[in-house]
Amino acid sequence: MQFPRDFYMGYIDLHTHSTASDGTDSPGQLMVKAKNAGLEAIALTDHDTLDGLPRAEEAARDLGLVFIRGCEISTTTEQGEIHVLGLWIPHKSEPLDSFLKHLQDMRFSRNAAMTEKLRNLGMDITMEELAAEARGTIGRPHMAKIMLAKGYVSDRSEAFDKYLGINGKAYVPKIAPRPEQAVRMLASLGATAAIAHPLLRPKPAGWLDSLSCELSAAGLGALEAWHSSHSSKQVHEICELAKKYKLGVCGGSDYHGKSKPGLELGMAGENAKVPFSVLENLMEMRKNAGLPL
Ligand code: AMP
Ligand code: ZN
Ligand code: FE
Ligand code: FE
Repeated sequence: MQFPRDFYMGYIDLHTHSTASDGTDSPGQLMVKAKNAGLEAIALTDHDTLDGLPRAEEAARDLGLVFIRGCEISTTTEQGEIHVLGLWIPHKSEPLDSFLKHLQDMRFSRNAAMTEKLRNLGMDITMEELAAEARGTIGRPHMAKIMLAKGYVSDRSEAFDKYLGINGKAYVPKIAPRPEQAVRMLASLGATAAIAHPLLRPKPAGWLDSLSCELSAAGLGALEAWHSSHSSKQVHEICELAKKYKLGVCGGSDYHGKSKPGLELGMAGENAKVPFSVLENLMEMRKNAGLPL
């Protein structure tokens, strides 16, 4: 595929969220912001849903942006939650659609259990209110927003620290697939599966190395090296690990709009931007593997 010459000097963002999950910009608005931020390519990677992709894809096409269909799947391990990014999700995405529908059902049960706990703690929060707050995938950030609006907490951190976070009083663990299931599902459809923000939270030494090795056997294609939470040193470490397992590297901001105010579209850690060459390399890997672009 041939891109205009100036694209090669430009930047990309392969990790973003819209109102189809817990972001605050609609898929269309997000594409306009990406264009205004001077990006050449963008992936929309909403949590456990593909619902925002058609609108984003259409808007990106009108704006002349390279668009990559993506999603971010929540999975669990003994070490806690791991997010798996899928990039180049095909238009015909069955059986991924059923897989994601099942995850949405699991989320619904968990949200019901957590809102019940919040009510038992004296907060007036219903599933109907939660549904009204969200336009797509519903989760803890939407609960935090209601708690803040009703004055039960003074900020988002308090909502998570006291109630919604892993040590919070209303916490219920998410029932989610294992990372290898998500990776296998994505790889079977010809999507590129990547471990999202591998170093977002502290993990035991060697953890990422063994996970990369295990998931490579399930069809892992890349590691997310650039991310808002990664230092330059971590970006370098992840790139080295990717080389060791012959994986690609990807990167993005994890932009969520107003629901995560510190994150800026196109910025992926310590003033870092993700160069267009990262996309080119991923595309080269896909081409060599006979996968569509
Ligand atoms: P859920 O998918 O419902 O479990 O919600 C997960 C989302 O909640 C994450 O993507 C973050 O946006 C947010 N989140 C999780 N833990 C925290 C925390 N400790 N502080 C602030 N936001 C958090
Ligand atoms: Zn999120
Ligand atoms: Fe994530
Ligand atoms: Fe994300």
